[in-house]
Amino acid sequence: MKIGVLALQGDFDAHRRRLEELGAEAVLVRNSDDLENLDGLIIPGGESTAFLKLLSEDTLETLNEFVHRKPTFGTCAGAIMLAREVENPRQPGLNAIDISIRRNAYGRQNDSTILETASALGSEPLEMVFIRAPRIERVGKGVEVLASRDRDPVLVRQGQVMAATFHPELSHDTRVHAEFLKLVKNGSK
Ligand code: GLN
Repeated sequence: MKIGVLALQGDFDAHRRRLEELGAEAVLVRNSDDLENLDGLIIPGGESTAFLKLLSEDTLETLNEFVHRKPTFGTCAGAIMLAREVENPRQPGLNAIDISIRRNAYGRQNDSTILETASALGSEPLEMVFIRAPRIERVGKGVEVLASRDRDPVLVRQGQVMAATFHPELSHDTRVHAEFLKLVKNGSK
């Protein structure tokens, strides 16, 4: 399995290492040519505004086409990129998953924190590393919630697209990436 990791900015290398740990081939993606022949893509955390600035028009267009066609997983800023609606401030989303998301929504005091939650990924609690995290404020009908932080969905899936508002690549637990690889292998449910 060949999985791309958007490598313009942010913590793409931790995703690359996690994918390799799970036996996938990881490809760092910097332009539209790099998106060819991939089975799936991860858009990492970082700054979504920086992604939008750094993406050339051509790469953004190819990326937009890719995320509507192939399995894609966005973490934190990556989840913001994939959302249908983005607030605080309003910015364009790729509309690959039917969620509304608010950037930097957990306030200063709480803007970086590590929590645990129950999840759909098994009985062990899931560690969640939040870094200036966005909050998912609305999920559409077709969106499955796999984990929540209190009442906020933090790990969601719709068809071939997954989004997390936390950073699973920074925890030892490999289950979130394994779930994405399952999706790449088997297609959507
Ligand atoms: N605050 C960032 C944004 O709004 C996301 C933070 C992250 O990816 N850790 O894009």
